[in-house]
This record gives sequence, C-alpha cells and structure tokens, in this order.
Amino acid sequence: MRSRFVAGNWKMNLSKEEGLALSHSIAKQEYKKGTQVVICAPYIYLDELAKITSSNSNVSIGAQNCHFAKSGAYTGEIAAAQLKSVGTEYIILGHSERRTYFGETNSIIKDKVDAVLDEGLKVIFCCGEVLEERESGRQEEVVKLQLQEALGHLDASSMKELVIAYEPVWAIGTGKTASSDQAQEIHKMIRVWLADTYGSDTAENTNILYGGSCKPSNAAELFAQEDVDGGLIGGASLKADDFIKIIEA
Ligand code: PEP
Repeated sequence: MRSRFVAGNWKMNLSKEEGLALSHSIAKQEYKKGTQVVICAPYIYLDELAKITSSNSNVSIGAQNCHFAKSGAYTGEIAAAQLKSVGTEYIILGHSERRTYFGETNSIIKDKVDAVLDEGLKVIFCCGEVLEERESGRQEEVVKLQLQEALGHLDASSMKELVIAYEPVWAIGTGKTASSDQAQEIHKMIRVWLADTYGSDTAENTNILYGGSCKPSNAAELFAQEDVDGGLIGGASLKADDFIKIIEA
C-alpha cells in the first residue's frame, strides 16, 4: 500500500522567524497513520527545522536542490552529504524553476539523482510539460522523455527512494490547476512507464504527486484520483491552515 504524501515547497520565501513558526504549527499537528509530510525549506533553515520536526514521525525535512558533486570547488553550492548532515531526508530535483531559470537539463538532473541516492537520501523528482507542449498535445511524450533521461538508468531497488511529482508548468504558481482528469491521465501514464521500466511492484509502490496551484478547495478532488497519491504544494504551503487542510484532504 502506498502512503499518502504531501510535500511543501517554500521556494525562496519566508524569514527564519516565519519559517520556524510555520514548521512548529505543522509539526504539532497529528496526522493519520501512513501520511508522509515533507517541508522543503531554504537550506539555511534546515538544521533548525529538522530539530522541530523530529518530534513528529509523520513529518520530514527536504531541500529544494543540491549539487551533483560529492564535495569540492563549487562556490555557493551545497552537496547532498552536507544536507544529510543537518537532518535532510528528501531533496527536490528537476523542479521546473530549476530547469527554466538555471538551465538544468535531464542529464544534469540525472547526475543529481545519482548524487542524492549515493548519500542514502530520497528524491522528489519533478516532471511536467510547458503550456505550448500541452497545447500541441505533446505532454505525454515530454514527461516520458524527462523520466527516461533522468531515471531510466536506475534499478528497481533505487526507485524505492524516489517520489515522482507531476507538475504541469502552466499550472505552477498561476492559479490554473490541471483538472482531475488531466492529472489522472498523466499519473496513469507515469505508472505504466514505471511498470514497463522496473516492474509492477515498483509501479504499485511509487508515490506520484500532483503539483500546480493545488489548494484546500481542489486538493480532495485531485487526491481522489486513483493514481494521485498526494501533492507537491508551493504557494499554499506557506500558510499553516491551508497546508494542513491539504494534508487532511
Ligand atoms: C511548485 O512550485 O512545486 C508548486 C506546485 O507551486 P504552486 O503550488 O504555487 O503552484
């Protein structure tokens, strides 16, 4: 049985004081058994957030990126091992903002996936098409290529450390959510790809999240879809009430 999984991506938002208060509110809540909550915060808060969330076994800490090298002369970068040393369990990779603003290709993301798995951490892998690709009906082809080029080299046992987030880029931060049918269609396609590539156990056990303007008012309908196991939440993860309502959905 797959867990239910909700991750919050704070992006480059919140002061330290605001972030600590928000994580206290999330950590003090009780969640249903089998619910995994991850708070993906700016690097500099992770150390303290990990201490706050250690009181709640349903809540873990995640980073929003890392470098692909183990260590070395990469000024301004952070290695997976460093993130692990402060209590980080998950790392988001392949987010569309990293792809768009920082030129991350499927090949760079593949190297980052390997670096994170080598450290024994877990990956929240993001994929999704831009508006133009959706409008020309190429969404399945685009997502499949992202999966194939960044994850296709892994074996089934490594896939246990991965969560996949389908995030149509046209829905991220825009207020435009994919319909539950549109989300289910791609989630199903991803599950079929997992089955074809790694076998049916991997397909059945991998969490596939939806991301893109998910909020308390639409979370329940999206999460009710057969292949939607939870969400990756941006804007609505910055307010405790909204984020907790989404987790409860
Ligand atoms: C995201 O950035 O991963 C995201 C889903 O953002 P939002 O919920 O704000 O659309």
